[in-house]
Amino acid sequence: MDPAKRASVGALSEVRDDVRSETHLEEQVKDWLRYGEDLGLAPYYRDRAPLHAIESATASSEICAAVPAAMAAAAPGRASDAPTNVAPSPSASQKPATTSTILPATAPSLFEAIERIAGDTLPRIREDIGDCTRCKLHKGRTKIVFGTGNPNADLMFVGEGPGRDEDLSGEPFVGRAGRLLTDMIKAMGLQREDVYIANVVKCRPPENRLPEKDEITTCSPFLMRQIDAIKPKVICTLGSCSAQTLLQTAQGISKLRGEWFDFRGTKLMPTYHPAYLLRNPAAKPEVWKDLQKVMAVLGLQPKKR
Ligand code: URA
Repeated sequence: MDPAKRASVGALSEVRDDVRSETHLEEQVKDWLRYGEDLGLAPYYRDRAPLHAIESATASSEICAAVPAAMAAAAPGRASDAPTNVAPSPSASQKPATTSTILPATAPSLFEAIERIAGDTLPRIREDIGDCTRCKLHKGRTKIVFGTGNPNADLMFVGEGPGRDEDLSGEPFVGRAGRLLTDMIKAMGLQREDVYIANVVKCRPPENRLPEKDEITTCSPFLMRQIDAIKPKVICTLGSCSAQTLLQTAQGISKLRGEWFDFRGTKLMPTYHPAYLLRNPAAKPEVWKDLQKVMAVLGLQPKKR
């Protein structure tokens, strides 16, 4: 091939590569936005176009143009149900300190950045989860364990993820650890039906292993929406996974437990997981101390024996 022809063939193939990679990028952006919409997070993308506006754009340069153009339009998905949905969450510095003993989360929470969906409800969140296949945990699950209890509870317990009994029944904390949690709730002068119980991940991790980072990242936005919908006065996290997820910290549970934290304006008390108490009954008095702090805030009297 003569050198001039070779040069023009080379240039043509570079152009093709550019077009291919631009198309690939566009597909990636669309997939990502679709994923956000599946999670019910569309309203959180303040600067994004409705997906249909993006779909109709034919090149990534048009996507860039479509995004600011759509900012003025009604927010897509859930947001259109509630035009006043995005109440800005106060920045850490604007937040009133509820009491001097409340510690801030050790790092800015991922959830601080996420705005709330006004009027969000538990049935709507459940509907958005659907027959979820967003992470690998769906492959081994029997039932999605969404959460259970009083949708207007003052107190919400957050565990890690379903175990075998929960996977089979679809209800959180119904196994041995669950029975201990029920006893703890009763000792606080409440019934199980008075509180709300949920987990960080809604499907059982295989062999009851800890939920992995990608699983937590995929599933925890639904937990956050549950918390926002219930608006409990106090969140009590059980074990390290839920405390670390909500507080966005790597601190161990023995350092975190017994101290008040602030989770988006709600008091959060980490304590040990009931499954840990089954293995280490000697830690029960510590948990009882933590629960007594919760009871003091909620004005609860211990159950008379
Ligand atoms: N452990 C958890 O963390 N959650 C459950 O629902 C059951 C056991």
